[in-house]
Amino acid sequence: MPIGIIVHGGAGRFLDNEYPQALAACRRAVETARALLQQGASALDAVEAATRVLEADPILNAGYGATINRDGEIELDALIQDGATQRFGAVAGVRRIEHPVTLSRWIMERTPHHFLIAAGAEQFAAEQGMPLIDPKSLLTDRQIRGKHADTVGAVALDLQGNIAVAVSTGGVRGKLPGRVGDSPIPGAGGYAENGTGGASATGMGEGIMRALLCFRAVELIHDHQVQSAANAAIDLFTRRFDGDGGIIMLDSNGQVGIAHNTDHMPVAWLDGDKIKSQHTQKNAESRT
Ligand code: ASP
Repeated sequence: MPIGIIVHGGAGRFLDNEYPQALAACRRAVETARALLQQGASALDAVEAATRVLEADPILNAGYGATINRDGEIELDALIQDGATQRFGAVAGVRRIEHPVTLSRWIMERTPHHFLIAAGAEQFAAEQGMPLIDPKSLLTDRQIRGKHADTVGAVALDLQGNIAVAVSTGGVRGKLPGRVGDSPIPGAGGYAENGTGGASATGMGEGIMRALLCFRAVELIHDHQVQSAANAAIDLFTRRFDGDGGIIMLDSNGQVGIAHNTDHMPVAWLDGDKIKSQHTQKNAESRT
């Protein structure tokens, strides 16, 4: 069985000088996941570790550096899904959590539930020994200044053929307090199904939710190559849902699909034993 990993740093707006840093974070996330997968770690371990690298990078809208809501506060959402069982863990509206992806995994593995929100999610984290941090420690100057939506996501395939997905975000800048987007919702912001594939979406979450974009995209793998599935999903998203965003996909053979209708979407992935990344300006794409 081949291994596979693909990550994105969001279909947001990056300033030209920020784009290389976003791409470097994506490449580091792939390196981390590759090392784990090569040692026989699970796809869940790989997507969690990759997402933690992205959450720790201030240039991306997840964890440290997440965007702020209308009232200047951080509210974080995340999802992890196991393609073997389709169990998932998700959080929404948490403020005092450094790595929401890990809290999502704990919810999946340590509770009979799938989804916890806000104060209850933080209470569960504390009960499980996760430190609750000062939300201000996640703020950077960049978030306070800018207009960004650079959610992160990862999809992995392990040596046993298991597929997993993880997504983490601060949501869209200026959102109403309490707003939740697509990212923590399975089938919308992320989806994983063993034997078929996995996907992670980014962009305006309202449209992604209406489209159930990741579920649709993975379903398309039954009849299409994974790159065509990604293209068809974003085409439909653009036409029927007036959507703004992108998707990364991985099939059960480790092949990737990447599509977006936004100017930017930093992506890195494993191609054989090489790490590739794409430098995209819409209509002028180069892959290295
Ligand atoms: N999809 C995210 C949301 O709507 C934002 C993003 O992808 O940057 O919350």
